[in-house]
Amino acid sequence: MMGLGAAQRIYFDHAAATPLDLRVSKVMAPYASVEFGNPSSVHTEGRKAKKAIEEARKQVAEVLNVSAEEIVFTSGATESINLCYRGLIEAAPQDKRHVVTLATEHMATLRVLQDLGCEVTFLPVDKDGLVSADAVREAIRPDTVLVTMMYVNNEIGTILPITEVGNMIAKMKRTKKEIYPIFYTDAVQAVNSLSLDVKKLHVDALCLSGSKMYGPKGSGLLYMKKGTPMKARIMGGTQEHGMRAGTENVSAIVGLATALKMAQTEHEDYERRLRPLQEMLFDGILTKIPGSTVNGHRTQRVCNNVNVSLPKVDGEAVVMYLDSVGIAASTASSCTSSAGASHVIKALGKSVSEAESSVRLTLGRSTTKQQVKKVIQELVRIVALLKIS
Ligand code: PLP
Repeated sequence: MMGLGAAQRIYFDHAAATPLDLRVSKVMAPYASVEFGNPSSVHTEGRKAKKAIEEARKQVAEVLNVSAEEIVFTSGATESINLCYRGLIEAAPQDKRHVVTLATEHMATLRVLQDLGCEVTFLPVDKDGLVSADAVREAIRPDTVLVTMMYVNNEIGTILPITEVGNMIAKMKRTKKEIYPIFYTDAVQAVNSLSLDVKKLHVDALCLSGSKMYGPKGSGLLYMKKGTPMKARIMGGTQEHGMRAGTENVSAIVGLATALKMAQTEHEDYERRLRPLQEMLFDGILTKIPGSTVNGHRTQRVCNNVNVSLPKVDGEAVVMYLDSVGIAASTASSCTSSAGASHVIKALGKSVSEAESSVRLTLGRSTTKQQVKKVIQELVRIVALLKIS
């Protein structure tokens, strides 16, 4: 149903990008060509485009169990994070700008918070990348405006206790009169394998990226609970409830909505198919490459993520070798210098050399047993070749 183009290559980097599902591209095609009207125009062409966007918004809202007016379409998760944090913090009084987050968040979160200059509590994680709801509760202060925690870590695949934290904050809101923090989750890496019913998660805000769910690149969304005090940060026209001015990318929006619906409808099948392949890959690496270790929780992780530190090798070199034999993988970090070693792996308490020897293999809908076997075989070969004695 979907193709990679170069058929003989093996793709194990689905956490970075997924191919566009043909069912999605089919829905998008007319809006990239014949149905080109500007959704803000009053004529027939414009109204058709506007209708497509509003139907996509309804579809997304239904899947997430929220209201259509609570959805803002964006160009991806980075933009959603910027819109949300900047809008929230700049709308908050000067003396209520404290933020609670994790040391292992995505760089989009870490950099935006740094740029905003607000006081941030970075909660440490345990050796598996987990944090408890109690630790989050203890970090919340009367001046905390935002608690933000990703649902699934993009490097190590660990599933964070979003429902527990959401319930805890919701309970605080019910029992105390003061204003309690907005709870935000970056659900980018959760969408293919976990249910995203916002009412059950008890989150006030959430972001997604089309490029990680077999949708179009440059598409994303922000869910913001109605009534959340927010300043608009992108000024211009009145598009997207005034929160994100600029002519909408209609084909990307309809593609994103279709991809989200498919990902959420099919997430149980995805889990059933990929979990045994993930197990096979972990078992193969851990038994055939002595000294290799798992990064992230061994079981409380999404079914498509395998992240390991390999003994005495450089992760970048492994990735380059794999690429040369037709396999796409990634390291947890894109930099080999010690300053650039993955902040996530280091936060697990691992050494810089363990962080630098990490490799992330992320499976997808098209992954097969044969591909897993081939990857194990090539990893064994490269580790023997590269091993620094
Ligand atoms: N958050 C997580 C967890 C991600 O994995 C990514 C992308 O890798 C992003 C945010 C950024 O998403 P986008 O590229 O759509 O801006």
